Amino acid sequence: MAMQQTIEAYRHPFTTGTEVKRMLINGEWVRAASGKSFESRNPATGDLLANVAEGDKEDIDRAVNAARAAFEGPWSKCKPYERQALLLKIAELVEKHYEELSLLDTLDMGAPVARTRGTKQRVIGMLRWYAGMATSIHGETINNSLPGDIFSYTLKEPIGVVGAIIPWNGPLGACIWKIGPALATGCTVVLKPAEEAPLTPLRLGEILMDAGVPPGVVNIVPGYGETAGAALAEHPGVDKVAFTGSHFTGQSIVRASAGNLKRVSLELGGKSPDIVFADADLETAVPGAGMAVFANSGQICSAGTRLFVERKVYDEFTTRVADFGKSLKVGNGLDPDTQIGPLVSEQQYERVTGYLSTGRQEGARPLTGGEALTEGAFGKGYFIPPTVFADVQDTMRIAQEEIFGPVISAIPFTDIEEVITRGNATTFGLGSGVWTRDVSKAHRLAKGLRAGSVWINCYQAMDPAVPFGGYKMSGYGRESGIQQMEEYLNVKAVWIKTA
Ligand code: ADP
Repeated sequence: MAMQQTIEAYRHPFTTGTEVKRMLINGEWVRAASGKSFESRNPATGDLLANVAEGDKEDIDRAVNAARAAFEGPWSKCKPYERQALLLKIAELVEKHYEELSLLDTLDMGAPVARTRGTKQRVIGMLRWYAGMATSIHGETINNSLPGDIFSYTLKEPIGVVGAIIPWNGPLGACIWKIGPALATGCTVVLKPAEEAPLTPLRLGEILMDAGVPPGVVNIVPGYGETAGAALAEHPGVDKVAFTGSHFTGQSIVRASAGNLKRVSLELGGKSPDIVFADADLETAVPGAGMAVFANSGQICSAGTRLFVERKVYDEFTTRVADFGKSLKVGNGLDPDTQIGPLVSEQQYERVTGYLSTGRQEGARPLTGGEALTEGAFGKGYFIPPTVFADVQDTMRIAQEEIFGPVISAIPFTDIEEVITRGNATTFGLGSGVWTRDVSKAHRLAKGLRAGSVWINCYQAMDPAVPFGGYKMSGYGRESGIQQMEEYLNVKAVWIKTA
């Protein structure tokens, strides 16, 4: 009880005060041109955290102009070594303020502190990896076959002004996944945080300024998707949009990009198959397959939500995953013991509870969960317990559509070729998982699954050096890895007649 009171009364330094949180344009903290603001609330309690300046077209315009001027100004003369030093300085400051940033992520979007603190090594590692990349970008000399002495080589050049549009499901990491490669390659950025979770991006903006990011190189304009986001996606002064979010929004971004044919990279949704064979080490597969969906309350685009289980262990395995789900502590993310926090918003809550009813109507059988939690303190937030639906058919909506909640659709299978076909029978192709002790099966699945990542005997492993992205309607382009650097670079061929 004492802990509960402390948690409920907790005020984060960034959320105290009544001043509207301003946006970052050209190194200055400014109000929205319209004077408008919007509320950011804690999804665990409904409490108001802060009012935030609501950017729209005019603010995006100012920010893009600042980013363009910075791109053409002194920033373009910055040496790779200087950009590396800047990224290392940012890494140092983010590390210093990590506790504060992780608590802010928890307050604004609900993820448990156990999770937001747990990402520390990965997030700092990303910044340090991007720092390394800053001094590793190079073109090539190419032996051409032309007669005479004509020498050819390539230059890799920053693409220019990047419009970064990010989701709310991991705000700090999402910012760094876009700002990091931009700074490494010498681009400038206008970042539009998700309206559900704008606070960590703004606090990060302060840290970037303290680290010495020059004015205009990183601009942060919070606002709604249909206004600020759409204005950024269609802006003729933006050279590339780096987007993470739903495939519907991804499609409108592609349409909006047509005006100036800007480069687009899209990391979208998924309905990823996670495939468990009877020969797997079930001791690790149970929590592995469970957390492949329950982590972050299922609000991860590559969550392994279609759980295919070999028929001979189907009943045993699904029961064990359901028991595992039941054992997880659901609650306010500020409680260090919480493993599953609330969903981010009312909209998300309506969507997920809608799918829980759909699943039951379609004839799926909840082994655990299946109803929102509404008793006591749960009633103030958007809490859905880990849910496992058994008896799911491939054609059911809960097996086809992205739910973005802690909901597993468990489906039996009998044969390896059959499960490859059924696993691939989705419009998406982001993640996939395989649990087996048989290396031949593992390899067959690694080749057969049409997805950007295949995790074998693990799920959701991520590293800044390893590319991540989608096949099919999960998008195109890659984040992390040298492949991501290419997304932020243009290649120029240079020819010199030397004789
Ligand atoms: P989700 O459904 O997970 O919230 P969205 O795709 O709606 O995913 O949102 C991801 C990001 O895209 C957010 O920053 C949101 O504001 C932005 N966004 C939403 N609609 C548009 C749009 N039409 N154009 C550009 N950005 C948008």
